[in-house]
Amino acid sequence: MYSELGLYIDGAWKKNGGGKGEDVINPATEKPLAHLPHASTADLDEALEAAKKGFAVWRATSAYDRAKIMSKAANLMRERHDVISKIMVQEQGKVYVEARGEVLVSADIIDWYAEEGRRSYGRIVPGRAKGVRQLVIQEPVGVVAAFTPWNFPVLTPARKVGGALAAGCSLILKASEETPGACVEMVKCFADAGLPAGVLNLVFGVPAEVSEHLLAKDAVRKISFTGSIPVGKHLAQLAAKGMKRTTMELGGHSPVVVFGDADPEKAADTIAAFKYRNAGQVCISPTRFYVQEDVYKRFLARFTEYANGIKLGDGLEKGITMGPLANSRRLDAMDSFVADAKSCGGKIATGGKRSGNQGYFYEPTVITDVPDDSKIMTEEPFGPLAPIVTFKTFDEVVARANSLPFGLAAYAFTTSTTTAAAIGDAIESGMVGVNSIAISTPETPFGGVKESGHGSEGGTEGLGAYLATKFISQG
Ligand code: NAD
Repeated sequence: MYSELGLYIDGAWKKNGGGKGEDVINPATEKPLAHLPHASTADLDEALEAAKKGFAVWRATSAYDRAKIMSKAANLMRERHDVISKIMVQEQGKVYVEARGEVLVSADIIDWYAEEGRRSYGRIVPGRAKGVRQLVIQEPVGVVAAFTPWNFPVLTPARKVGGALAAGCSLILKASEETPGACVEMVKCFADAGLPAGVLNLVFGVPAEVSEHLLAKDAVRKISFTGSIPVGKHLAQLAAKGMKRTTMELGGHSPVVVFGDADPEKAADTIAAFKYRNAGQVCISPTRFYVQEDVYKRFLARFTEYANGIKLGDGLEKGITMGPLANSRRLDAMDSFVADAKSCGGKIATGGKRSGNQGYFYEPTVITDVPDDSKIMTEEPFGPLAPIVTFKTFDEVVARANSLPFGLAAYAFTTSTTTAAAIGDAIESGMVGVNSIAISTPETPFGGVKESGHGSEGGTEGLGAYLATKFISQG
């Protein structure tokens, strides 16, 4: 049971695009699930015309009526969550319980934006001269081109679709070709909820060709991208040619700082479960662990015990707690990180190799004694690898945590309120979880600093990303 794939353009499903297409692979079995059509440039132009028409209709629809359709779509996602989750497990590899959580949170995101869109008020600023009314109003920016990755096939599209639709924008969404099915099902929920034709269009293709074609078009006024830093920089350059607004949710390399006054077992239980979620293929996954010397041994022992208890397998099977990596590129990347770590003195506390000979399975891995300039400590692993090292002082660990060009997420554990406040302030990161991993909710801003990108998704900031401010002075 998998999704019937297609392109969704101007309110109609196209089973065949003008492009060559590709097979979607189940990473647990390496077997094809379905053939995905690709859009040709003619298909993309059709989607663009549809989005222009859709924008005219949708911006003229009241926020009240927009919210009703969006809420209906969110409810359909909840009703259909079991089917959508199973499709996601097959194409992406994550375990069922995580897929289910993703679909339900995505429905909450759509709902939250639907409600917040109704509170996009603007303001009146008193004029200097008598009889002058100064109005600040918020208008939808226009047609949006959104690009989403394979690690969260519904959540990343939901953030972009939710914000854009609530603001009154139309979209052309290019979701990941490697995980298209769950997103197709989400788009069906919007279609069945009565979203007017052309407001949301879904395409697939060769990523670089699709983005190059769409970003060159004047009608596209906003780009929202989630993915790797090199691709983000490339798209930002293309966007700059047309002075188009951008939101860039890129990679990171999240430090975790465990202070000596924290409970090391409690910290390990919390952060290890978070580390191996989606086999570590999460942009805010904890990826560099700095533990103060006095609690290092206890933290490492408990963390390693957790990693050893993980049950690897097909995410649809009962009792499985970690699935395969999403594609074979990640397996090669893991091998390269581990080989480099070993070559510079790193020790493998557990894992460190592929598992089985079918499917892209990699063992949950803990690495110790790696230097700060090793590959694993300087490049985002995007996989189930946890390098754990020691530190001595607050200033030292802050300098090490801030030493990379990334700044997406960071975590710290301490029982001191003074240290909690100090580390929250000191870390260069868009999001910081202090004694908490809850840094991604529909109502709070999600985004990075430095090379991790700019702009936020979620919260009022996420809605603002799709609004242009207009000032009207009326005499
Ligand atoms: P990649 O850089 O080739 O692709 C990343 C994503 O961008 C994919 O979804 C891809 O379809 C899309 N993409 C690639 N080129 C594009 C283009 N020219 N225009 C539009 N979209 C384009 O790498 P990958 O092998 O898929 O993933 C590797 C790295 O990407 C990971 O190590 C990780 O750092 C990063 N990544 C980050 C996220 C995130 O949530 N921020 C998600 C997936 C991947």
